[in-house]
Amino acid sequence: MATQKIGFIGLGAMGFPMARNLIENGFHVNIAVHRNRHPVDVLRDKGAMEYPTVAEIISHSDVIISILPTDKEMQAVLLSDSVLEQLSADKILIEMTSGSPDMMKKVNETYQAKGTRVLDAPVSGGTAGAEQGTLTVMTGGESGLLDEVRHVLDAMAKNIYLVGPIGAGKAIKAINQMLAGIHMIASAEAVSLAKKLNVDMESVREVIGNSSGASWMLMNKLDTLIDENYEPGFKLKLMRKDVQIAVDEGNTNVLPLGALALQLYKMAEKTDAEMDFAAISKYISN
Ligand code: NDP
Repeated sequence: MATQKIGFIGLGAMGFPMARNLIENGFHVNIAVHRNRHPVDVLRDKGAMEYPTVAEIISHSDVIISILPTDKEMQAVLLSDSVLEQLSADKILIEMTSGSPDMMKKVNETYQAKGTRVLDAPVSGGTAGAEQGTLTVMTGGESGLLDEVRHVLDAMAKNIYLVGPIGAGKAIKAINQMLAGIHMIASAEAVSLAKKLNVDMESVREVIGNSSGASWMLMNKLDTLIDENYEPGFKLKLMRKDVQIAVDEGNTNVLPLGALALQLYKMAEKTDAEMDFAAISKYISN
């Protein structure tokens, strides 16, 4: 499908740079303001077309991309009457929110009834990956549909995987997030202990970086943890939501670390919901 008209919904920490990469790769991008005008103004200056509502974005687009905070916004936006009225068999939804497998299946079933095809496509790689167009995309759905939209994903991502049917993308993303949430807590504990034992942080980086205790999280978040700079990034409330999805999908009896991580993120969310999820370290050090 040689479409160039992309409707982009959710212009936040991830969606804004992803939409910008689409424009810079030659796609026509349709957008609307939700509350914050800033990303819309910047993207308009780069050539995006602004519409007053999400429903109008959809009516003027062939491929719709959504990357919203949670299941709640997926339901409110993607399953609203005004949006459903605009769906048709010639449209495709690429759904990139880190939502639950159940919500993804619900959206898919509703869209299928309208003939609209759906790809479940959450991402990993953080805001840096979104800026650089190097995200990992974990897709669930039909391989033929992935082939049709691969050129769109290529403008935002470096690694694109097909992991199973609709819902499988959200499932593997939830597993990744449970690991990432646990690894952040483990990294924060390591930095806290290094401070207490007066271990030089450059030694932590180099020696542990080349030892069995290393993790992607420790290496990528070490500076954040040392500097205690908790500007998001990836908001702590979103990590709480992701670990919650994993624990809900599983069973707390067999996910003891996931359940414990969830308790910690829930506690931290009371005061630091809008901070980067590295702010969990405030509840570990001292
Ligand atoms: P943000 O909170 O930064 O952005 C959310 C965006 O959704 C904002 O642009 C917001 O608009 C918009 N929005 C919220 N509600 C509505 C609505 N009802 N209608 C239209 N737009 C709406 O979140 P992120 O970009 O950080 O995260 C988005 C998703 O990506 C989440 O599921 C997250 O878990 C996942 N993710 C995030 C990563 C990260 O590092 N940040 C990494 C990988 C995945 P407004 O600001 O105007 O309210």
